[in-house]
Amino acid sequence: MKILVTGGSGFIGSALIRHIINNTDFTVINVDKLTYAGNEESYPEAIGHSRFIHEKVDICDKLNLKKIFDKHLPNVVMHLAAESHVDRSIDSPDNFMKTNILGTFNLLEVSREYLCYCDKKIKTSFKLHHISTDEVFGDLTELDTYFTENTPYNPSSPYSASKAASDHLVRAWHRTYRLPTLITNCSNNYGPYHFPEKLIPHVILNALHGKTIPIYGDGTQIRDWLYVEDHVRALLEVVKNGKIGETYNIGGNNEKKNIDVVLEICDLLEEMVPERKPEGLGGYKDLIRYVKDRPGHDSRYAIDSSKIQNELNWIPSETFETGLRKTVKWFIENNSWYERILSGEYKLDRMGKGI
Ligand code: NAD
Repeated sequence: MKILVTGGSGFIGSALIRHIINNTDFTVINVDKLTYAGNEESYPEAIGHSRFIHEKVDICDKLNLKKIFDKHLPNVVMHLAAESHVDRSIDSPDNFMKTNILGTFNLLEVSREYLCYCDKKIKTSFKLHHISTDEVFGDLTELDTYFTENTPYNPSSPYSASKAASDHLVRAWHRTYRLPTLITNCSNNYGPYHFPEKLIPHVILNALHGKTIPIYGDGTQIRDWLYVEDHVRALLEVVKNGKIGETYNIGGNNEKKNIDVVLEICDLLEEMVPERKPEGLGGYKDLIRYVKDRPGHDSRYAIDSSKIQNELNWIPSETFETGLRKTVKWFIENNSWYERILSGEYKLDRMGKGI
């Protein structure tokens, strides 16, 4: 099987590529423009592998996207390419609208045209899997229950609004043109190779570099955390056994307040590398500073994953405690990966600490 993955050089896409190369016999064609968030060092096992091809193409470039389809003849498309950082979407929403909405539109149109002339074998097996977020549902209060697949959309940020728009396009292309699509909406991921502007790597790296750890508002916002490798297993399960036209919610069943996540990271660092904190500091926790909240900040996300659990037999294998331990250890041991990022344009002092 040939899987065309978009955005495979990003955080989740690279975990997907590592998983496909290590655990399947599928060929992967990675269509990634390599924005600041894309990194070819995030899938060392794929580089030079006979089942891995990278095509540096912008999904907004429809002509080149079509050429990639014609050249590689994919059976499946897994669409992860996106602008994904909420803070950046507030500062400068343009690229979010282009990539997340127009890019998805191009992919749908190229897929639809491809199905008109590709050979019968591909035609009967083809599917397009759109990877989306639980942020399309807006937020919950502590008294609400969970987001289900039927929760109405109510996005709060330019990022989540652009993802909501892309989900609507995918559903419309299925309904109108019978394009064989699948959608998944996932909660917050964390794990190895996570770009340092997101909450968990940002906290780990700031602490390891003796810098202050900024927390938005009072830190009581709640997120449901999912270890990235559990997400990737769920995505492949959906691609293999999901019902065409359906949506599946994916969550880790790990609701945590941001401040508790930060405190757990500080405790793990205290246990693993107590000697790396700045001289004179009582504990890593002393680096925490509360900063002005993000505008429109969602207060709680919590996802009901019972559909994928019951229908496709997927359950996360990591608890937050085991996954966070693995993640902190990975960042401690893989400084060459993040030092190259930190020596470029991206700086830890950036305000980025969102999720
Ligand atoms: P990421 O920002 O780490 O990676 C995005 C990738 O897309 C990068 O490699 C980038 O180079 C590429 N890209 C961006 N614009 C492109 C374009 N125009 N053409 C081609 N490639 C382009 O994102 P991520 O965290 O890996 O998220 C992947 C997908 O999963 C996104 O669609 C996101 O909305 C969704 N998602 C993420 C999370 C999360 O917690 N990270 C949770 C739920 C859903």
